[in-house]
Amino acid sequence: MRKKYRFFLISILITIVLLTVSLVKEKQRQKQIEELSRYLNEEEIAFAITNNIMFSDLQDFLEYDNFIIFYYRSYQRLKEDYSLTPLEAINLFHNPNYYSFYKNPKPALFLETPLVLVNKCYYLEKDFVPEGLVLIDDYKLPHYDRPGDEIRLKKIVLEKLKLMFEEAKSNDHSFVVYSGYRNYQKQEYLYYEVYGENDALSARPGFSEHQTGYAVDISTATAGLTRHFEKTAAFKWLKENAYRFGFILRFPKGKEHLTGYEYEPWHFRYVGIHATEIHLKEITLEEYILANFEL
Ligand SMILES: [Zn+2]
Repeated sequence: MRKKYRFFLISILITIVLLTVSLVKEKQRQKQIEELSRYLNEEEIAFAITNNIMFSDLQDFLEYDNFIIFYYRSYQRLKEDYSLTPLEAINLFHNPNYYSFYKNPKPALFLETPLVLVNKCYYLEKDFVPEGLVLIDDYKLPHYDRPGDEIRLKKIVLEKLKLMFEEAKSNDHSFVVYSGYRNYQKQEYLYYEVYGENDALSARPGFSEHQTGYAVDISTATAGLTRHFEKTAAFKWLKENAYRFGFILRFPKGKEHLTGYEYEPWHFRYVGIHATEIHLKEITLEEYILANFEL
């Protein structure tokens, strides 16, 4: 009898403890919901509850801007406010700095392919040198001569340039290649010594796509790397036909907020088969990658 009584008492005690714990938990939960409602709407609170997001986590989010609700909210906003496709919204959701120049940049995407992405958000290592660079002289293409610093480019780029220049010639246009592959040290010199750290005009070392061997500066012999090139018939032809040879105008007018560069009529980039869609849709390489690949 005594034994039974003790068992009964223990059971009651355990029940009381459990009830108290769950009451305290529920009270905490209510408090959290109350706190959450200061920052989030009903739908977002529901999301937070089903995903076990606690108020302490929310504090982290408010402090560091990298919490899941932030991405969730961004995702909703991005989709609705900017009419992005789901893939574009998800890509931005996972890469919030995709268009934030020099803010937590990531390693270059699609390295050693014509799609390689190097810009103010994706960088190359200091010692990165692309494979298979070929001297421009091997293809007898007209180019600006810098003794001791011969222009080199990826083989495919030189092959396509050759075809493009031949067709241009039959349309009475001739071009000169002003620069191609540029190593890290050269870019370092240009950025600091020549452009005085002007981010609108020059890439920081490691952030220039000239280091990939897929970027090429083209102009006429008389216009050179100036805005005059834009006004020439040769430029008009190039702008309309380059994509057929796999080249795109890389820093177009009106897209400065996406590329991070002022309009450069001479800077072309070999992207191979991707050039057609980029050209016809009048988008940048950044927009094309965001829309077509899961990042
Ligand atoms: Zn260039």
